[in-house]
Formats: sequence, structure tokens, C-alpha cells
Amino acid sequence: MAKPYNLTNGHGAHGCGGDGEWEENTSFHQETRAPLSPSAEGINTESAIAHHFAEIMRLLGLDLSDPSLRDTPRRVAKMYLRELFIGLDPARAPEVRLFPNTYAYRQMVVEKEIRVRSICEHHFVPIIGVAHVAYIPQAHVVGLSKLNRIVDYFSRRPQVQERLTQQIADFLEEKLQTPDVAVVIDAKHYCVSLRGIQDEASRTLTYAFRGAFASGETQDLFLRMVGL
Ligand SMILES: [Zn+2]
Repeated sequence: MAKPYNLTNGHGAHGCGGDGEWEENTSFHQETRAPLSPSAEGINTESAIAHHFAEIMRLLGLDLSDPSLRDTPRRVAKMYLRELFIGLDPARAPEVRLFPNTYAYRQMVVEKEIRVRSICEHHFVPIIGVAHVAYIPQAHVVGLSKLNRIVDYFSRRPQVQERLTQQIADFLEEKLQTPDVAVVIDAKHYCVSLRGIQDEASRTLTYAFRGAFASGETQDLFLRMVGL
């Protein structure tokens, strides 16, 4: 069973600490925290979500006694809690172990085309794309797959691409102990392609360029390396 989430909205009462439980609600870049309800604690159980989703299906005129539909509310609740929105659970924040930069590597490390699978918080339909992430190590380097995990963690919650970009940059800056970080996200929004304007070709690009990436040669090199 998915355990109920323990969510707070930045009022300081949250008991998060330690490597694997990054406190998103500290004074660090306050504006990028997730808009969570302070009363969300314990209410997002699988059965409560399934119950409410069944209600939506009924209101749409669907017959929930149909064998094909009967288990859909439960499936949706499981998918929300265990997959699509697992990044709402602070306990799932990736543990970031650093290694001493004994080889004194002082150039950028780029991890490009990291898969992004998120959900638009305005329409609850997918955001699918890639992230390009870079940092310049100081005293420490990080295991490369952690960069993928960090992108995945912040993606797996209802999001807007602008916030997602900044949350990843904030986390990298703090955890990798360097001000020199860059994040670019290039994604398709199904709320643009499936509904509304229904433009299937357009993509959205957002970026956070910090420290040495803020301008000049370093930024140019990064953009060349990721093919932008
Ligand atoms: Zn949307």
C-alpha cells in the first residue's frame, strides 16, 4: 500500500532532514516550492482517490459495473500515488552522494536528453520531453545517474514547466555545492496538442542558467553541447 503523503506548504513544521529528504520549503528559493495544501497530510489515500475518481466516471455517464471499467478508479489511484505523482512524497527525493573531486575536474559536466515525464497541473495531461542538465564541480562530483533521478523526482508531480526547471536548478545548486548549474527543458504539452489550440508541433523551452552559466562562453558552450 502506498503510505499517505506527509505534505506541508512551507510553514516550517515539516520533519524532513538528512540526505534523502530534501526540505523543499526552506528559505532556499521559496518561490519554486510546490503549491501544496497544508491540510493534505493523510488525505491522499488510494481508496479516497479511487472513490472520487469513480464519482467523476459516474458523472460522465459511465457504467462502473462494466467489467472493463470496474477497476479503473483503483488503477488510476494507484497510478497517481505510485507513479505519476510519486514526486509529491518528500521521502522519495533522491539521495545525493558526492565523491571528492580528486582529479580536480573543473569543466562542465553535461547530462543531456534526460527523459521528462510530467503532468500539467492546470489540465492533468502529460508533459513529455527532455532536460539537459550541467554543473561545474568544485570540491565534489556526483554520480551521473543522480542527475536523471533528480529530474525524474521533480517531474513526477503536477507541474508547470517553469517551476520544474527552477526546482531542478535549486536542488542541484544546493546538493552539488556549486553555484554553476544549468537546466534546459524542452517539452511537449498535451494541453496544447490535445485540447485548446491543438497545436501538435509546438514545444516549450525553459531554462535556468546560474553562476558561470549565466552568460558568455560557458553558456554558449553548454548550448552547443546540447545542440541548441
Ligand atoms: Zn496545461
